[in-house]
Amino acid sequence: MKCILCNDSESLEKYSYKGANKADSKNFFENNVKLYTCNSCQISFCHNISRKKLDEYYKSVYTASKPIFDRFLEFNSRFFSQVLYYINHVKLEKNIKVLEVGPSALGILPSLKVFQDKIKYYYFDQVEIKHNVQDVIKLGEYFNPYTSKLPKVDLIWMSHSLEHIFPEDLIKVINKYHEALNDGGKIFIEIPHDIKTGNFSVPHTLFFEKKGLIKLFEKLRFKVVAVSEINDKVELLDSNPNMNKKKITKKNFVVTLYSFIQRFLPNKFVKKYAFKHFVLNGPYTNLPIIRLIVQKI
Ligand SMILES: [Zn+2]
Repeated sequence: MKCILCNDSESLEKYSYKGANKADSKNFFENNVKLYTCNSCQISFCHNISRKKLDEYYKSVYTASKPIFDRFLEFNSRFFSQVLYYINHVKLEKNIKVLEVGPSALGILPSLKVFQDKIKYYYFDQVEIKHNVQDVIKLGEYFNPYTSKLPKVDLIWMSHSLEHIFPEDLIKVINKYHEALNDGGKIFIEIPHDIKTGNFSVPHTLFFEKKGLIKLFEKLRFKVVAVSEINDKVELLDSNPNMNKKKITKKNFVVTLYSFIQRFLPNKFVKKYAFKHFVLNGPYTNLPIIRLIVQKI
């Protein structure tokens, strides 16, 4: 199999999709979806998957999404921790233009606004963002590298979206982002470290190792500003399933109870609780993730 990046080396079947697929995804993907790995690019990608099936799958996912009622969504642990990471490495300038790919119903904007109020925000998603703020522009349901037009932006936010790109479009997508970025523009990326956890499941189509991710962006005219593997020493689900199951159940109960009660509490209390909860909780996930900030050169 030819590698989607270097084209000339032979990719081999090193990994395979596992039974962790969600039940409903079985309607959209054949069981024989295969993964190929290029050892020199350090990237794994699926081959026999169709754009049409992938689109149909995402459409089916979003019909079921519910509106969000919680207050102080800016302290959402995933997004708030990403913004803290970002501002530790890069100054968040005034009046910057941000493009987010796949924010779902929440996205990065509320958390960015904690630190910089003047932001113009564009996004692609099938769901509609309903934050009560100005300067939010929906560009389309999803980014199509062949037909979508992008405005000039300073920052592109990709939280858990890079691993969903149709593999054969990967280079085209990143080239389009490069074109859309102003001089010195940056991309923030967070992906699950599926290679480390052995969690190969659809609809993830791309699987990166840290070095492979760096190589990819350097090849496409970016320089790395920051890169981290988070939780890379954490015990994996497979090695101690009971411990993790218990933890998840407890968290879900507390979160559900809190989400209900907080609607009746005054803002002052809820805000303090939301912040404290974020800080005390530590990292938002136990699972290994990779974070990367790259800058256009
Ligand atoms: Zn390759």
